[in-house]
Amino acid sequence: MKRRHFLLAGIGACAICAGRAGAAPRDPLPPSLLERDRLPLLKNLAGRLRRLRQLVGYARFNLIDLDHARQLARGYPKVGDFTADELALLEHFFHADPVPWGFRGPRVGDDLAQRIDDAEVRKIRGSGHYLYRGAAERLFNCLQRDVGEELRLTSGVRNHLKQAQLFCDRLLAADGDYAATVRWVAPPGHSYHAAGDFDVGVAGLGGANFTAAFLDTDAAQRIARLEYAVLRYPADNPWGVAHEPWHIQVS
Ligand SMILES: [Zn+2]
Repeated sequence: MKRRHFLLAGIGACAICAGRAGAAPRDPLPPSLLERDRLPLLKNLAGRLRRLRQLVGYARFNLIDLDHARQLARGYPKVGDFTADELALLEHFFHADPVPWGFRGPRVGDDLAQRIDDAEVRKIRGSGHYLYRGAAERLFNCLQRDVGEELRLTSGVRNHLKQAQLFCDRLLAADGDYAATVRWVAPPGHSYHAAGDFDVGVAGLGGANFTAAFLDTDAAQRIARLEYAVLRYPADNPWGVAHEPWHIQVS
């Protein structure tokens, strides 16, 4: 049996052992909530991913693949090796069907251990982010030319582990509520950042670039007038994702 299937089988067994023998069975949990007894495991996984990000650096963490991450985690006690349960939870987030969570977007990758070669990407100066060479890089350059120098790359290529870290942090902050999480952060394996999409913002706006405040900027209004700039998640999109006027579709 492949490791992935073995681990998933373990997850299934955990999920159904809700009541003790002889005790009244609990009401089934809504599928949009993580089981309460797995919150500590989620917290451990999120913490390990954040420590790993600190070890490799914010920019490089966007690209890291699972095998390299596991090697580093094993080699650096301040990160510590992933436990089997943490890996199983990671696999679960990647392979589970997210429709019951409220996310209806397509799957974007099917290999959690996907590697990204340095030759495929270019680091964008001053951003801490990377873009795939070719279409994504050309599109960003056109946007910067047409919108203005104040346009910034706020997120570019994100391999599945980086997406998993964002997903875990958001799910933890939402106390295990998948539905609240997937409005804003796609599950790993379903983010177009792994395939080339990128986010833009304006200099000086910081984290507010990822809020409705971005809509009030001149840059957002100029982007809306550019025919070639297509938003991946427009308002009222059918995939259950919030309106993201900063997320540019590549392809
Ligand atoms: Zn995005």
